Amino acid sequence: MRRKAHKIFKKKRRYGPLLKAAAALAAVAVLTVLGVRRLGEGESPEALLARANGGLYTPAYLRLRGELSKKYRGVPPGRFGEAVKGVTRRLPKEAGRVIAITLDACGGEHSGGYNERLIDFLRGEGVPATLFISGRWIDRHPAAFLELAREPDLEIESHGYLHRACSVSGRGKWTVKGTRNAAEAVDEMELNARKIEALTGRRPRFHRPGGAYSDEACAALAKDLGLEVLTYDMYSGDARPHAPDSAIAANLLKYASPGGIFILHFNHPGWNEEAALRKAIPALKARGYSFVRLDAALKPR
Ligand SMILES: [Zn+2]
Repeated sequence: MRRKAHKIFKKKRRYGPLLKAAAALAAVAVLTVLGVRRLGEGESPEALLARANGGLYTPAYLRLRGELSKKYRGVPPGRFGEAVKGVTRRLPKEAGRVIAITLDACGGEHSGGYNERLIDFLRGEGVPATLFISGRWIDRHPAAFLELAREPDLEIESHGYLHRACSVSGRGKWTVKGTRNAAEAVDEMELNARKIEALTGRRPRFHRPGGAYSDEACAALAKDLGLEVLTYDMYSGDARPHAPDSAIAANLLKYASPGGIFILHFNHPGWNEEAALRKAIPALKARGYSFVRLDAALKPR
């Protein structure tokens, strides 16, 4: 026994320095990984996205979803539309003669990237804008998403995890499906808010549902999550594929009003929003309008 113990002791002594070196290397590796994680540097957009997606379903999240699901069980959905109770559609009067340009990126499967000309044009004009981006689009375009999030004049808000209409009873609009119950509505709003926060360091304040349709119970549920359902009040008509720029510009000039919110899309590189804004923005500036991000014009509730 004693001999055996002695042998082991000797072995330990022999491998001791090696073990120490290995432990030191492991510590350096762990610290490096932690450092990289903290800074988000040196990590590919795909790796960052995988880490963000992997951290969504925490026990605390599932508890929150369970509590809200219970709270909204049996609550009637109320009216369903773009302008129902609890939904923001305009900027407050005190914002003045301003317009918010909002640009959506919906599902993502069929689009090849985004309309870079449109973003370049806004940057060149010094016009700020708010981007509503769905989780599905982020999954398809992580590098582009991170580039857009770094633009100082662009605000990133949420267009839902799966681009669903906001409903506690499954109502949808056009080809857009609705969330079937409160638990799905929580997933739709909260998972995308957490995903965007994990990627950008900023939690979105606004949620624009798929199709811009919501019921009143879902709009109330958003407030429990610290989010605000926001649609629009100035129709551009750009969602009809390849709508001519002159038609879009005419709508923008027709519906423009102080405190108004424009809705357009930036996820179709071949569509005509850029040419339309090239026409509309100088005309609106000449009418005395300036442009704001939503988070600059709307106070947190
Ligand atoms: Zn959409």
